[in-house]
Amino acid sequence: MNPKITTVLLFFAFLLQLNTYAAPTKPSEDEEPNHFSTVIRVVLDNRVRSAQLSTLRRLLYVRGDHSKSWKPLGAEASVKEISIGKERVLAVNGTPFLSRHLAIESTPTSSSIQYKSKNYRGTIQFHLMDWGITVTNSLPLENYLEDMLASEMAPSWEMEALKAQAVASRTYALYMAEHPKNALYDLEPGTQDQVYGGVNENNRVNSAVAATRGEYLSSIRGPIKAYYHSRCGGKTETDGSVWKSGHESHRRVVCPYCQQNPFPWRVQVEKAELLRLLGLNSVFSQLRIVALGKSPSGRIDKLKIGADGNEKTLLSDQLRRLLGYDKIKSTRFDWTMDDHSVVFEGFGSGHGVGMCQWGAQYLAKKGKTHREILAHYYPAATLKTLKN
Ligand SMILES: [Zn+2]
Repeated sequence: MNPKITTVLLFFAFLLQLNTYAAPTKPSEDEEPNHFSTVIRVVLDNRVRSAQLSTLRRLLYVRGDHSKSWKPLGAEASVKEISIGKERVLAVNGTPFLSRHLAIESTPTSSSIQYKSKNYRGTIQFHLMDWGITVTNSLPLENYLEDMLASEMAPSWEMEALKAQAVASRTYALYMAEHPKNALYDLEPGTQDQVYGGVNENNRVNSAVAATRGEYLSSIRGPIKAYYHSRCGGKTETDGSVWKSGHESHRRVVCPYCQQNPFPWRVQVEKAELLRLLGLNSVFSQLRIVALGKSPSGRIDKLKIGADGNEKTLLSDQLRRLLGYDKIKSTRFDWTMDDHSVVFEGFGSGHGVGMCQWGAQYLAKKGKTHREILAHYYPAATLKTLKN
């Protein structure tokens, strides 16, 4: 066919496509929520112009979101954003597709797809947005847990602690599937949500996931946003207190491990640096820091920081983000000042909400089951099992 006619046909087909465009829906959306078939969607990349996928000894298949049939691609796929006339479309191995949303799978579907040196199970999706291509990975909940768990807790830890972690992580993922980040994905693969880097085989992790298959923590509103953290420092905290989020699915509980091992930390920050990070152009020698409210677990709610009448009020968690979560390890801290610097000293590591991982490990060593560990750190939640 004449290439010009091909271009015109493609363009009109593309316009038709736009008229029928709808945000992609999840396979499980019309079904019973909180189901074993829940698919978790994780974002892998945003704002890219192209992407390369490959699979070992297997075939890749592609499908547009309005098509039921899969097209074979071979063992490699190059996905690019291209222009046809004034329109942008996705092209796979040089062939333009009329859909703004493409899915690529490997066959058999149990085999993985490589993207940026990492292997992923399930489906890799490409979404052509105004800002470029968003790349996501969709996979069954239990597979997601097998792959992410070792990034959140060392697989060598006690089996009952790993099982408690599996339930907490499953619950968090279920919550995010019901309250997704946006229309394209449920959660991010970093510490904002749960650390996930694709396939990560580990027998102990797989055992912990299998032994707790389908178990999750629920309130009357469904799965809770089951937070967890490294070390609470002595007592855990409520979600409402840390983020002023309005959620109150976590309570403060005493942690037997951290009562004995509170994990003290200390960090020195230059006064001028602190003011610069806050965007305050003040004389550092005048710096004042005032705590506004302290929770019963000893964590600071808010701080007023500034100098020369220029002050900012921020949540203590915002101060952690500003100075680095690795520096201000928790919101349970105090400070002293000398001429040029502020020394922050505190206890614990992490936001302190939900399960304390070191506490879970300690209780597991003391012979507690994962159910007892979960009941201790999530006293307001009920342990349930997903429907088959
Ligand atoms: Zn603790």
